[in-house]
Amino acid sequence: CAATRTFNSLRPPVPLPPPSEPLSVTSYLFSALLSSFPRQGTAFINATRGGESLSYAELLCQVPALAFSLRSRLGLAKGDVAFVLAPPGLEIPILYFALLSIGVVVSPSNPAFTPQEISHQFQLTNPSVAFATSAEAHKLPRGVNTVLLDAPLFRSLLADGGSVGAGPAEEVRQSDPAAVLYSSGTTGRVKAVVLSHRNFIAMTANYKETYEARETTRVALITVPLFHVFGLTMLLRLTALGHSSVLMEWFDFAGMLRAVERYRVTGIPVWPPLIVAMVKSDLVGKHDLSSLEVVGCGGAPLGREVAERFAVRFPHIEIVQASHPAGVGWRGEGWKRKNSSFHPFLNFPCFVLGYGLTESTGGASSTIGPEETQAYGSVGRLAPNMEGKIVDPGTGQSLSLGQQGELWLRGPTIMQGERVGKNFCVWWWRVIDDGFHIYLDVLVIKGYLGDPEATASTLDSEGWLKTGDLCYFNEDGFLFIVDRLKELIKYKGYQVPPAELEHILLSHPEIADAAVVPYPDEDVGQIPMAFVVKRPGSSLSGDQVIQFVAKHVAPYKKIRRVSFIELIPKSATGKILRRELMNHAISGSASK
Ligand code: AMP
Repeated sequence: CAATRTFNSLRPPVPLPPPSEPLSVTSYLFSALLSSFPRQGTAFINATRGGESLSYAELLCQVPALAFSLRSRLGLAKGDVAFVLAPPGLEIPILYFALLSIGVVVSPSNPAFTPQEISHQFQLTNPSVAFATSAEAHKLPRGVNTVLLDAPLFRSLLADGGSVGAGPAEEVRQSDPAAVLYSSGTTGRVKAVVLSHRNFIAMTANYKETYEARETTRVALITVPLFHVFGLTMLLRLTALGHSSVLMEWFDFAGMLRAVERYRVTGIPVWPPLIVAMVKSDLVGKHDLSSLEVVGCGGAPLGREVAERFAVRFPHIEIVQASHPAGVGWRGEGWKRKNSSFHPFLNFPCFVLGYGLTESTGGASSTIGPEETQAYGSVGRLAPNMEGKIVDPGTGQSLSLGQQGELWLRGPTIMQGERVGKNFCVWWWRVIDDGFHIYLDVLVIKGYLGDPEATASTLDSEGWLKTGDLCYFNEDGFLFIVDRLKELIKYKGYQVPPAELEHILLSHPEIADAAVVPYPDEDVGQIPMAFVVKRPGSSLSGDQVIQFVAKHVAPYKKIRRVSFIELIPKSATGKILRRELMNHAISGSASK
């Protein structure tokens, strides 16, 4: 729409349940499963534990049994927050679905975190219970009510829901919070992002609509962590379709290749560094990867050159493609159409590129089908039901097609919450006629838990999410990410907030000032680089700086490059001039 310069999704709208209908994301998934899928399939396979598996029939029995035990024996109730610190074994999906079904908010964390990082997350969310494996439990703050996932108690909760001790479960509404995930947003330290049941239902519905036309058995290997929005939404989406998900408790590249071969994996959602590894590694040639049909890549930028090399490295993919009858693929797209004169990369049956944020429940845009991958460098078109705006960060004016500015997003997957009045919140409403229902879609948007200031600067009063990404749309509706305006480093797909590392650096007695910026790296995307001003007389070395920070953070957040500098460049208001430092680093004047 030229007048308001709002870009509506070009995808057909996806019908969602009326917002007033009480519905947890678990009920939504299970009703999809029960209505459309024979229940004998395998739901989850644990590749780390020799292929131990869980069928859909078992999943559908164990989730309600555990949900009942959680209420009757642990006293959990709607609105409680459950912290989860564990690698992705088979019990994780059962636990997530059971908690969600009774309205307990899932707060999954990274098992690689240090106790300090975990304690910060506890301060943000104040969980009433923690579920952890015994290997991780020692990192939890003292005195926390903890259930060990690999101990007899949890097994007994799974096996026997009991029959007394719990009244009827409180109704879960779509606007209720479902999960709290962590993101630094556009600035500062990690914040708790509240995502509702409706957010996840809307995200899952989009995926189902796009992919359920595929007829053959699907097996996906989830290489992205289940505590990140990408992994969590993949888990939900694959379950909604009745596909089999292969989980790896500890990711390693060789193990991934073995798992693809052993379980005849057809799809892998990945962060870009895995594409780089597949392009470079000699191990790839030693495995039969012919079952692979879909690589869904998102979470960080994927370089064009890497994508091209990927196509050259995987000529067998054309064979996979050729084995597909026309029409088994994307709804409305015949496979035949792409068998002609496309670039080899485009002949990959389903190389899906996607873009999203934790705050948008992941997938805000993606390519669908081989033809859309022709828009090289683009992250596809806006997801169904999503609106976008390109806004000049200086003037706040919305811009036109082709012009670069900050991307703003609005739609049913944008973070929202329920506890109105406690924090900053806005109402957004519109009349929706999706062909099935006509209703008033009212969202109460909440944002970052307990952080009204950050929420107010990220969500505007009309419900637009300011992404902090510099983007433009072309005339065909394709979205291009040009740069990142926000203070965020992405090491692989993991978020590294510079402010967190700067805080640690400044706690060193020999450091007078510090700034952390992204430094480009072909294998992992970006590495954190520190610019450090030493105190007079200090003989601190770069390695000492690296080791000091490493003691406080998960391995992926480590500083990997250090430059000593006389003065950190700052604006008149004291803001670090990061762009200047990044240019300085890249121009080669910085040394390790
Ligand atoms: P997260 O909340 O961890 O998912 O991080 C979201 C941020 O990752 C976005 O705001 C982008 O800066 C970046 N990002 C995600 N997907 C892509 C992509 N396909 N291309 C470029 N950047 C991306």
